[in-house]
Amino acid sequence: MRSIEQIELDGKRVFVRVDFNVPLRGGVVTDSTRIEAALPTIRYAIDHGAKVIVASHLGRPKGAPDARYGMGPVRDSLETALGRSVKLAPDCVGAETEGLASALGRGEVLLLENLRFHAGEERNDETFSRALAALADVYVNDAFGTAHRAHASTVGMTRFVPVRVAGFLLQRECAYLGKVLAAPDRPLVAILGGAKVSDKITVIRALLSRVDGLLIGGAMAYTFLRAQGRATGTSLVEPEHVPLASELLQGAAERGIELVLPSDHVVAVDATPGRPTSVVSDIPADRMGLDIGPQTVARFANALRAAATIFWNGPLGMFEVAPFDAGTVAIANAVADSKAVSIVGGGDSVAAVMRSGRAAEITHISTGGGASLEFLEGEPLPGLVALED
Ligand code: AMP
Repeated sequence: MRSIEQIELDGKRVFVRVDFNVPLRGGVVTDSTRIEAALPTIRYAIDHGAKVIVASHLGRPKGAPDARYGMGPVRDSLETALGRSVKLAPDCVGAETEGLASALGRGEVLLLENLRFHAGEERNDETFSRALAALADVYVNDAFGTAHRAHASTVGMTRFVPVRVAGFLLQRECAYLGKVLAAPDRPLVAILGGAKVSDKITVIRALLSRVDGLLIGGAMAYTFLRAQGRATGTSLVEPEHVPLASELLQGAAERGIELVLPSDHVVAVDATPGRPTSVVSDIPADRMGLDIGPQTVARFANALRAAATIFWNGPLGMFEVAPFDAGTVAIANAVADSKAVSIVGGGDSVAAVMRSGRAAEITHISTGGGASLEFLEGEPLPGLVALED
C-alpha cells in the first residue's frame, strides 16, 4: 500500500479516516487508546502543512443524528491528546462542512460529526461517498478496525479521491498481521476464545493451515467438548455446529496440529455475580462452564512458553463478570511472560492485557478485533484493496 509518507500534503485537504469508536460515559471518553493510536498519522499530517479533516463513526446510531453519539466528547479527548485546538463540524457532509474544511489553515484540524449519522455510510451509497470525497484532496485510511467493512468512508469515497494512501497505524497493523499470515517465526500458537464457534469457523479453518498449536477457550470450547462426547452441563453449546467442531478436530489431528481444549472449568449455576463457584473437570448437568480452570491455564501457559509467535483473540471465560475473568487475565500474563512475538486483538483480550498492567510486554495490540480475524482468514480486506499500491 502507498504510504502517507510518499505523498505531498502541504496545503492539501487531507481526509483521515480513523477509528475513534471509543467508549463513553456521561459525555466523557473513558478509554482513549484508539485516539492515541491514530496520533502519529494526525501529527504527521499537521507537521507537513495539511488541512487535516478527521472522520470516524461512533457507536451505532441508526443512520440518523442521535445526540448520544455526537463527536463532542471525542473532540475534547483529541484536543487533549494533540495539545492543540480541534474544530468540530456540525455534520460530516454538506456545504457548511465543506466551507469549514476549505477554510482550515495549514496544520489545523477539523473533526467531522459521526459518519453513521447518515445511512449512506454503512450502505456505501454513491451520493454520500461523493459528498465525503468533495471534502478531500487526499484520502488517508488509518482505521484498521473498520478496514473489513465496505462503507462509504472506507471504500466508496476512495473512487472519487485521486490520492488514497495508508496511515501509520494501518501500516503497522498490516505489517504484524501480514507476518503472522505469511512468514511467522515458528512455532506459531493461536489462542481463540469468545462466545460462538459460528463466528470463528472461517478463521479456525484458515488458522488450521498455518498454526502449529491452537488453544481454544471461552464458550466456543464447549461445542468442541460436546463433539468429543464430554459433559457440558448447561454451558453455551451450539448444537448445530457440533458436527463441524468434530470435522475441525479431525482436521487438526490429520495435520498434526496441537489443538488444546480446556480440561477443567470454573462452573456455577449461572453467571450471576456472587453465585458459588467450583472447579471441575466433568461439568455437572446443572452447571455452566464460565471460565477455564487452573489446570487449563497451566496447559495453555505451557504451550505459550514454547511459542515463537502468538496470536490471541477472544476471552477465555465470561470476562465481564468476576471471578470468571481470572482465566483470561492469567492468559494475558502468560502472553506477556512469553518471549514470542505476540499479537493481541479483540475488545476483551485487549482489556485483559490492560488490566494485567503488562501491555508494554505485548509486541502488537491490534485496534481491530474483527478486522484482524478477517485479515488472518486470508481474504483481502475491502478497505485495504481500496488504497493505491
Ligand atoms: P466474542 O464477541 O465472540 O469475542 O465473545 C465475547 C463474549 O464471550 C464475552 O461477552 C464473554 O462473556 C463471552 N464468553 C466467553 N466465555 C464464556 C463462557 N464460558 N460462557 C458464557 N459466555 C462466555
